[in-house]
Amino acid sequence: MKDHVSKFQRIVIKIGSSLLVDPENGLRRAWLDSLLADVANLAKGGKEVLIVSSGAIALGRRELSEKGIDLRDGFLKLEESQAAAAVGQIALSEIFSETLKGHSLVAAQILLTIGDTEQRRRYLNARNTIATAISWKAIPIINENDSVATSEIRYGDNDRLAARVATMCSADLLILFSDIDGLYDAPPATNPDAKLISKVTSIDSAIEAMAGEAASIHSRGGMKTKIDAAKIATSSGTAMVIASGQHQHPITQLAKTGVGTWFDPNPNSISDRKKWIAGGLEINGQITIDAGALIALEGGKSLLPAGVTKIEGEFQRGDTVEILGPNGHAVARGLAEYDAKDALAIVGMKSSQISEQLGPSARSSLVHRDNLVLDG
Ligand code: GLU
Repeated sequence: MKDHVSKFQRIVIKIGSSLLVDPENGLRRAWLDSLLADVANLAKGGKEVLIVSSGAIALGRRELSEKGIDLRDGFLKLEESQAAAAVGQIALSEIFSETLKGHSLVAAQILLTIGDTEQRRRYLNARNTIATAISWKAIPIINENDSVATSEIRYGDNDRLAARVATMCSADLLILFSDIDGLYDAPPATNPDAKLISKVTSIDSAIEAMAGEAASIHSRGGMKTKIDAAKIATSSGTAMVIASGQHQHPITQLAKTGVGTWFDPNPNSISDRKKWIAGGLEINGQITIDAGALIALEGGKSLLPAGVTKIEGEFQRGDTVEILGPNGHAVARGLAEYDAKDALAIVGMKSSQISEQLGPSARSSLVHRDNLVLDG
């Protein structure tokens, strides 16, 4: 039987508040257990899974309402939703951690604010944290840090957050589980002839027009933020699917039926990104390399400090640097993993020496191959 999910290796799963929390009955425990059983199966099959979970505010509202602070209905003031998130997030983390432990898996909570994905240095930092957790086979449980995010500086919806996370960790697939099974060509509630769009190869104005604006009081994202998420994901080479999460074992269901709206990744995404690095940015420094490092770069490898002979300029981590070959001619450009000061301290060093010099959390590359483009 065809399995619609097994061809993907690194999968980000976003679950909406309305799937996780029933305003009347609280957390939908049996459903979450079934989802995490699916996640455990994927992990056992060698897949890397990350979860972007909403529900902190919805769960906090519900818990506080049980204590006589009635937050059940209506829109909350900013400080109320921040404090409700603080209550809900701690409960949510405990449930994820305990349930995954039952499957012999470790959960790693990561709370992000918008600056953590939009500012290059913080982006690299968050990316390394997530990559390390994944390398330990922990399951990242990610949400916006709603307790400190203010209205001007927040995502607000987890659809776009999940897309940024998916692109940040170069996921192959982003699954947006929602209470609707995908994008329809007309509003399905009012139009009995509305048809589910099962595949979107490019997001044009017709697709955007189908999205509308609808959202409920518990989930901020409607179809519009899901289409925004699709643009972010697919332009960076991540496939995306909007699917119903309403059944038990939603991942098994999706794998079996494939029902949902699938967005194809843009096949040119890698070279687009590399063109962007090569063309658009200010150069803040120069790194000269030896002949061995040049061969490694041409073979698609990262630039390691061992092959570096000279560092010039005042660059900061995340800035664009030019890479010069042994004869002094520019051979590549990329984004620096270190400030110039730290880069100077580790020139020529092997990985083990770098951790002695800069501590165990030090990164092994000076320019990671994902952020490096060879001159044409
Ligand atoms: N971050 C919010 C929460 O955990 C949810 C945002 C959304 O519904 O997309 O409650």
